[in-house]
Amino acid sequence: MGRGMRKPVVAANWKMNGSLGLCEHFVANLARPDYADVWIFPTALHLGALAESFRDSDISVGVQNVWCEVEGAFTGEISASMVAAAGGQLALVGHSERRSLFGDSDAVVARKFKKITEAGLIPVLCVGETLEERESGLAFEAVQRQLNAVEEAWDNPAYSHVAIAYEPVWAIGTGEAATPDIAQAMQALIRNHVDQNSSGDSQAVRILYGGSVKGVGAAELIAQEDIDGFLVGGASLDVNEFNQICEAVKS
Ligand code: PEP
Repeated sequence: MGRGMRKPVVAANWKMNGSLGLCEHFVANLARPDYADVWIFPTALHLGALAESFRDSDISVGVQNVWCEVEGAFTGEISASMVAAAGGQLALVGHSERRSLFGDSDAVVARKFKKITEAGLIPVLCVGETLEERESGLAFEAVQRQLNAVEEAWDNPAYSHVAIAYEPVWAIGTGEAATPDIAQAMQALIRNHVDQNSSGDSQAVRILYGGSVKGVGAAELIAQEDIDGFLVGGASLDVNEFNQICEAVKS
C-alpha cells in the first residue's frame, strides 16, 4: 500500500470571505477533476447555496466550524447535524485561527470532532505548530498533543473517514509555505502516529498540507510521499489560482 491508494484532495477554506456572487463564479468556473476530490469550505451562510449547486457533482461542501452540542441555548452557533441536514458533507475542526482567536482548546476541538463524526460528516482535523514551538524543537510534540487530545475523546480511533490537515501556524497567510522537505517530514511523523494509535488506517488517511499554497510550488509539495493534497486559504478565493492547484495534483 502507499500513496497510490489515496486520491488527492484540494480543499478551499474561504474563511470569512465570499458572497453569493463568488459562489456562482465558482460553480461556473471551477475545474471538476476526476483525479482529485475537491472540497469547498465557504462561510456557513453560503453553505446551502453551494451545496445545492454542487448537489449532483463530485464537489463536496463543508463548514469551517461547528459547536460541540447538537442543539440548545448556544446563541450564534450551529451544530454538525444542522450542517448535514443543509447538505454539508465535511467540517474543518481545530483550524489555527479558531484555536488562537476564538479560544478553541484541545479539549473543545476534541468535543467538536466527536460531534462531527457522530453527525456523519467527514472531519478535517487541522493541526500545526507555532513558530516558537518549531524554533524550540517542539514541533512534533505540539502536533502530537493535538492528535492525542482528539484520540482520547474518540471511542475507537479509526482514521479512514477523517482527513488531517498539517498547517504550520507560521505558514498560514504569510506567503511563506513550508518547504517540501519540512512538510513531508512532519506528515510522515503524523502518518506514523496514526499507525501507532489507530486501527490500521495509516495508509488510508489523507494528510493535507496547508499554509500559503499557491499554483506555483504545489507540484513540488504534492510530489512528496505523505502529502495527499492541500487545504488552501487565500489562494482559494481566486478560481483560476485554485484550478491551477487542482492541475498540480494530477500525477
Ligand atoms: C488556511 O487558513 O487554512 C490556510 C492554509 O491559509 P493560507 O493558504 O492563506 O495560508
